[in-house]
This record gives sequence, C-alpha cells and structure tokens, in this order.
Amino acid sequence: MKKQFAVIGLGQFGVSVSTELYKLGHDVLAIDVNETKVNEIVNDSTHSAVADGTDEKALRSLGITNFDHVIVAIGDNLQASILCTLLLKEMGIDSVWVKAQNYYHHKVLDKIGADKIIHPEHDMGNRIAQHLVSEKVIDYIELSDDFSIVEIAAPRFMDNRTLIELNIRAKFGVTILGIKRGKDINISPMADDKIFENDVLIVIGHKNDLKRFEESN
Ligand code: ADP
Repeated sequence: MKKQFAVIGLGQFGVSVSTELYKLGHDVLAIDVNETKVNEIVNDSTHSAVADGTDEKALRSLGITNFDHVIVAIGDNLQASILCTLLLKEMGIDSVWVKAQNYYHHKVLDKIGADKIIHPEHDMGNRIAQHLVSEKVIDYIELSDDFSIVEIAAPRFMDNRTLIELNIRAKFGVTILGIKRGKDINISPMADDKIFENDVLIVIGHKNDLKRFEESN
C-alpha cells in the first residue's frame, strides 16, 4: 500500500532514503533549507520544498501533519535536528525517525519522543567490520547486542546435504531463514531442502553461535 513520507534534510542519508522510498512507489515530500539540494531531488520525489525544519509555520503550511512518517535527516546541526523532532512530535506525527549524530544527540532524541533513532555510520561500520573479519559474511544485521542475522556463503561441509541431515539448529543453535541460489531465494526452507556449494544462507542466532557456524567448514 502506498504510504506518505516526508524527509527533512537532504544530505547523503536523506537523499538515499527519499530516492529509495520514491522508487518503491511511495509518496515522498522532500524538504531542505538549501534550494540547490531541493532542486537536485525534484525528479526523485513526489513533492519537494525549500523550508526550514525548525519553522513550525512553514512545516504546517506544507501539510506535514498529514504525513504518517517523517524522517529527520538533518546532519550536523544538532540544535535544528532536535527542535525539528520536538515540533513534529508536538504536532502529533505518529512516526518520527531521526538520524542521530552521536550518543548525546541520541539521548536527547530519545527523551523528546523520537520513535526510532538511526545511526547509519555506526551500523554500516559494524556491517563492514563483520565483512572484513569473516570472508564468508556477505551481509549483517544487528538485532540486539546479542542477536543478529547474517548472510554467509554456505560452509563446504553442507554441500549436497539436506537441512534435516545437517541438523544445524541442534548443532549450532542457529536457524536458517532462507537460502539464496543465484537469483532465486527460498524463504521457507523445508527439512528435505538441500544446500549446495555457492548457496548463500540467511541465518539468525546468537552472535557466539553464528561465529561458531561461520568458522565451521
Ligand atoms: P549527511 O551526513 O546525511 O550527508 P548533511 O549534514 O550533509 O547530512 O546534510 C544535512 C542536510 O540537512 C543539508 O542538506 C542541510 O541543508 C539540511 N538542513 C540543515 N538544517 C536544516 C533545517 N533547519 N531544515 C531543513 N534542512 C536542514
């Protein structure tokens, strides 16, 4: 279903979010104080506007209160990011996601009611580190301090064997959520599905168990 999103702040992060949401077929209102940034996104958004995210009147006149989801992607200007978030929550916007710059920024955003606080550089850094330390890890999503989902190349010992034979959950405590083979993806693997070399496995589990699994061969 088509949703309405507003993105305030069109730095690299704001532009990526807006463009992708628009590509996915949603309505996107892209806002920045800088006219050049706004002009650059005209073709990749439903509407775009030059406005200050800390100006309540300007936001109201853009109809911001009709949006279910607003993403605050104002980068370095912490004061503006905080004030904008506060205004949006005071105006009753249900879902306000904010890009945080650091720990203190995060704490303030949390206190004033931001619904989700995002640390793109930190998250990307984690994912790249995981990729660097293990050649097998293709992608990585941190679910909590202890649990994650990883995409890893199938260990060689699994080649041409079924999930039931391999008994991965009992041996490693991790669960295989999906199997990617070329362009195909099996998102509900059955006990008698086979794994082959070159498959990519999507696996969920405790970090320690995932590590044991990655290191198996
Ligand atoms: P990134 O790290 O994602 O590239 P930047 O800090 O480079 O983020 O960009 C943040 C964007 O937010 C800039 O385009 C800037 O013009 C915009 N911006 C800064 N203050 C405001 C504000 N008060 N209202 C709207 N946009 C703002």
